[in-house]
Amino acid sequence: PMVYNFNAGPAILPPAVLAEAQAELRDYRGTGMSILELSHRSAEYEAINAEAQSRLKSLLGLGDEYRVLFLQGGASLQFAMIPLNFLHPGAVADYLLTGAWSEKALAESATVGEVRIAASTRAGGYREVPRRAEVALADAPAYVHLTSNETIHGVQWHEWPDCGERPLIADMSSDILSRPIDARRFALLYAGAQKNLGPAGATIVVARADFLDRAPDTIPAILRYATHAKADSLYNTPPSFAVYLILLTLRWIEAEGGIEALGERNSHKAATLYNAIDASTGFYRGHATPQSRSLMNVTFRLANDADEKRFLAEATAAGFVGLAGHRSVGGIRASLYNAMTIEGVNALTGFMGDFARRRG
Ligand code: PMP
Repeated sequence: PMVYNFNAGPAILPPAVLAEAQAELRDYRGTGMSILELSHRSAEYEAINAEAQSRLKSLLGLGDEYRVLFLQGGASLQFAMIPLNFLHPGAVADYLLTGAWSEKALAESATVGEVRIAASTRAGGYREVPRRAEVALADAPAYVHLTSNETIHGVQWHEWPDCGERPLIADMSSDILSRPIDARRFALLYAGAQKNLGPAGATIVVARADFLDRAPDTIPAILRYATHAKADSLYNTPPSFAVYLILLTLRWIEAEGGIEALGERNSHKAATLYNAIDASTGFYRGHATPQSRSLMNVTFRLANDADEKRFLAEATAAGFVGLAGHRSVGGIRASLYNAMTIEGVNALTGFMGDFARRRG
């Protein structure tokens, strides 16, 4: 590869997907037009829309009781749409705080209605998810919201909280389709596409059909899930090129063996990097506690800012890009999304070992 891309998002995409998009770019299947130039009402786009929906559901093991929507506005718009649709007057929503993204989701919903913090690991610097016994849910909240993987802090849920019959909603922006999950546990899950699914510009929402229909008609049509479900994600012009690239990525995931195979590969990749961190005897220090470590975003520190600056500069010069931690927390972050290869991770740990020997 030209570089090893550890960006947090937009992020690395499978080279095979980019090559296929390139091959089809000037003339999509004999139409004489680029996919970029086709009407979203064309038979070609309708086919892309339908196949992407059904492949996503099948990869998640979901049937017709679930709907898939392709929306815009990023996961950030979902922070607002969720309470607008489901957090009605007199109701309360439970939020589980595990990092910067769940905090943002909470802040948006607090502008709409009554929210509770059902658990938070903020006091410890967001190094872990709460233990089951630390989660105190309301009896009948409109929903429970969690962030399955905190992209900035590098903290991931590995065992879901027990929510009983309460509708569970998850922001899966940075770990969707990275590991097998029981998707039926979720009333709604959502993700910006730009990490594991494709390019920026499309946001996927997967939700139980009966859950989607609960919005009051006092909110604008464009913000109601039911509007988009009824129109099959064609209520207004969809981000058609992004959805097309999502489809190519979903086909690639299937060809790679689906999320079971990718889950194994991702576990192996993350273990390789965490082992290198742990074996460095304190030269590199992981941020998250071992049981909550993210398999997607590996966050760690060096002894001081100067060492981290030097590490990042030398890494960039050696072809490892995107390793700077989020500007709000600093440190180092290596994002290991589905398209990152084990060779890329091995190259990084090789570089880290060399750097530690030179500087340690
Ligand atoms: N949630 C998580 C977990 C994220 O990682 C991000 C983006 N990095 C967002 C939400 C916000 O997504 P967007 O920029 O697509 O609105």
